[in-house]
Amino acid sequence: MKRIGHWIDGRSVEGTSGRTGPVYNPALGQQVAEVDLASAAEVDLAVESAHNAFPAWGATGLSRRSEILFRMRELLDANRKRLAAALSVEHGKVLSDAEGEVARGLENLEFACGAPHLLKGAHSEQVSRGVDVHSVLQPLGVVAGITPFNFPAMVPLWMCANAIACGNCFVLKPSEKDPSASLILADLWKQAGLPDGVFNVVQGDREAVERILEHPVVAAVSFVGSTPIARHIYETGTRNGKRVQALGGAKNHMVVLPDADIDMAADAAVSAGYGSAGERCMAISAVVAVGAIAGPLVRAIAERLPAIRVGPGDDPSSEMGPLVTADHKQRVAGYLRPEALGQARVVVDGRESAPTGPGFYLGPTLVDDVKPGTPVYDDEIFGPVLSVVRVASYDEALALVNANPYANGVAIFTRDGGAARRFERDVQVGMVGVNVPIPVPVSYYSFGGWKASLFGDVHMYGPEGIRFFTRTKVVTSRWPDPASSSVDLGFPQNR
Ligand code: NAD
Repeated sequence: MKRIGHWIDGRSVEGTSGRTGPVYNPALGQQVAEVDLASAAEVDLAVESAHNAFPAWGATGLSRRSEILFRMRELLDANRKRLAAALSVEHGKVLSDAEGEVARGLENLEFACGAPHLLKGAHSEQVSRGVDVHSVLQPLGVVAGITPFNFPAMVPLWMCANAIACGNCFVLKPSEKDPSASLILADLWKQAGLPDGVFNVVQGDREAVERILEHPVVAAVSFVGSTPIARHIYETGTRNGKRVQALGGAKNHMVVLPDADIDMAADAAVSAGYGSAGERCMAISAVVAVGAIAGPLVRAIAERLPAIRVGPGDDPSSEMGPLVTADHKQRVAGYLRPEALGQARVVVDGRESAPTGPGFYLGPTLVDDVKPGTPVYDDEIFGPVLSVVRVASYDEALALVNANPYANGVAIFTRDGGAARRFERDVQVGMVGVNVPIPVPVSYYSFGGWKASLFGDVHMYGPEGIRFFTRTKVVTSRWPDPASSSVDLGFPQNR
């Protein structure tokens, strides 16, 4: 059985804890590897390596740092297919989607290549007579990233590109469900010329996370995952004096106003609801149909579902892959039980269309007349189950979205610019799409939700990522007027 270990101090290291976890190929429904699960002592080794590397890396010139980032960008570009293939095997997503993930990760490296510009401070001359003020942005030291299974390449890149560009040394604790992508990234960083110890990987589970959260040398923790764990990471990390940004789960709505283009809205609902088998934190989970558009919209979505080809990620004709584990598939399918549905109606049942065999497949599922207060609406399902909630008015749609505890992404579909503008102002959600179902910001903005979708106050990547991974120092300086010097400096006044 293939064994997946850690990456510490610039080389791969076998685990010594004696604990391992299974890694599956979800399309085959089979275990394909086992991953080492780090002990606290192994986390300490990675943190120590990062700590030792920090004085030199933090002092490395900006142009040298950005040279390495440019090289990493080229290497990642050249290794897109290798990385996509590896993450598709363990995650299950189709190759085109996996390559899309790598492309979005690459954007974060491209942003970080601008480190010399991004790390400029400010300067105010003559704030009072003879006094100037300037600010500098300095790295924090050792920082850690803890990442979810659903984007095993992109989410680590959201964090490490900026962290490293800012002069920090990084310890990544990837998801134990699909750990291989992290080691490919480590290998590419090394090839790019990043000094040993600046990027480390510890594979692991809760035990490794707890040690990161209490380690006195770790200055900051960047987390992406589910809401209960995000809350725990934020509370524990901040209690231990660390800077923490913890992005949590989501329940994203797509509001469709009566004037929307039905084909455009149905295509968007299908791609955003079922892409990556719904295992995206920005997936659309609930379509909110306003007024008379509901019936035609449900029909238009349902008509499209039989055409979706569900199959193994490495088959180029597949459009949707399996779910990540057998347990997760069971959990998602559980939302089709009457107790979870309430009065809602299953229009298309993905259990019937799923490929047979041992793979963890569930076909695209559509549920209509879903009501708040039922598990199918209230919970984050994280699978290919799309709900339709019917409401009578814009105000009802808005109230529904704003009452939801999650607030990651939201979309509105309409031809009316005024309605879209009003929604953009009224809605209490971190990322808003207008006729765009998955409004993931480009890398030069920042990514993050509100409410139970983000604990902390700084969003991820982009300008807020630079802010998270640096601390500011403000220098106020006064220099005496050279004319008053007792030494002859060559100024006419001294003579
Ligand atoms: P998860 O919360 O189960 O795991 C995330 C990380 O936390 C993993 O590294 C895991 O090993 C660790 N972890 C799990 N249980 C832990 C525990 N009890 N104590 C300490 N650490 C623990 O999430 P997941 O299932 O890997 O990913 C899916 C979730 O992530 C969904 O809820 C999804 O919405 C969310 N997500 C959010 C965003 C976002 O940007 N807001 C992006 C991607 C995924």
